Amino acid sequence: MASSPKDNLLDYDRAELAAFFAARGEASFRASQLMKWVYGLGVTEFSAMTNLSKSLRAGLAADATISLPEVAADTLSEDGSRKWLFRLADGNCIETVFIPEAERGTLCVSSQVGCMLNCSFCSTASQGFNRNLTTGEIIAQVWMAANLLGQHADASRLVSNVVMMGMGEPLLNYDNVVRAMRIMLDDYGFGLSKRRITLSTAGVIPAIRQLREDCDVSLAVSLHAPDDTLRNELVPLNRKYPIRALLDSCREYVGEGRRRVTFEYVLLAGVNDSDQHARELVKCLQGVPAKVNLIPFNPFPATRYRRSEQTRIDAFFAILNRAGIVTITRRTRGDDIDAAWGQLAGEFQDRTRRSSRTRTTIHVQGHVQ
Ligand code: SAH
Repeated sequence: MASSPKDNLLDYDRAELAAFFAARGEASFRASQLMKWVYGLGVTEFSAMTNLSKSLRAGLAADATISLPEVAADTLSEDGSRKWLFRLADGNCIETVFIPEAERGTLCVSSQVGCMLNCSFCSTASQGFNRNLTTGEIIAQVWMAANLLGQHADASRLVSNVVMMGMGEPLLNYDNVVRAMRIMLDDYGFGLSKRRITLSTAGVIPAIRQLREDCDVSLAVSLHAPDDTLRNELVPLNRKYPIRALLDSCREYVGEGRRRVTFEYVLLAGVNDSDQHARELVKCLQGVPAKVNLIPFNPFPATRYRRSEQTRIDAFFAILNRAGIVTITRRTRGDDIDAAWGQLAGEFQDRTRRSSRTRTTIHVQGHVQ
């Protein structure tokens, strides 16, 4: 008879691990002991977990696993950003990007293999949607980065920030993403604070409302247009959740406190980058506690869009800035390794084509289909 698959302990948050141990007749503090080994010290061999009894260690080795992906590629950009392609147990690959800065190190984490949203300027869209990542596959990206950067060895906080901004729409994989973020926040997990985790969404309104109740990390919204006609074209999800309602949910999300929502705006030459668009954006964000993140478009093969000229970006920035909106222009980084934000490509197995319009040009590792 085939043995049942082992429990992947990375799939559980602390409460679920406590239940797992309780079911084995063990005290619930075993959960924090195990998490400290795994997330704090980077130890995944049960036999090395010396504060667990020998019989418990043997039992875990028999029934449980700590499943990590393989490193399919590890690329360092000239500017210091590092991109990993991780191969999952089923052969699918996902990307995780680390961006070191003077005061922090930000890890950009994927939530799905592919994406179903079909945003017209995003290279992930051309790959279709394959599947949701499990909790274990999401948290393993943080574990792998910490390990490959040497964080486990010297207990430094190299990964100080996490952005759920890689492949996929995190709010369409809600349960697994929230559970993984709980592990990132847990003192026995990665001990990050809520303001150091940012979830980026194209605007799934009901899930934004739910997130406020469940795990109110920093919120970023991919806006990219100041009016519904243009946004329908760039972010098709807007047809279901239009701008006004989306901004209402953003206002609710931050409430009366001092928090702001970050609005991401990819500047596409001649599409959404005129002075008029900037003025409309100012109007659109009136009354919303907002920061704006202007992102120079990163071209990819077969895209119909171009990056705005720097003078255009500066002019757009100046209009928002004069209107008193806190605005930053994201530097493009990692261009030489194709690791720019939202440019996350992978090789999928069993690719599901969303529509006949879908292009299937994959451009990772020089692999073209
Ligand atoms: N689905 C989520 C998270 C993934 S996309 C969301 O929509 O927010 C995250 C970000 O990637 C987008 O906001 C956008 O800023 C960026 N992005 C996507 N394609 C890009 C491209 N070609 N160039 C620059 N940024 C891009």
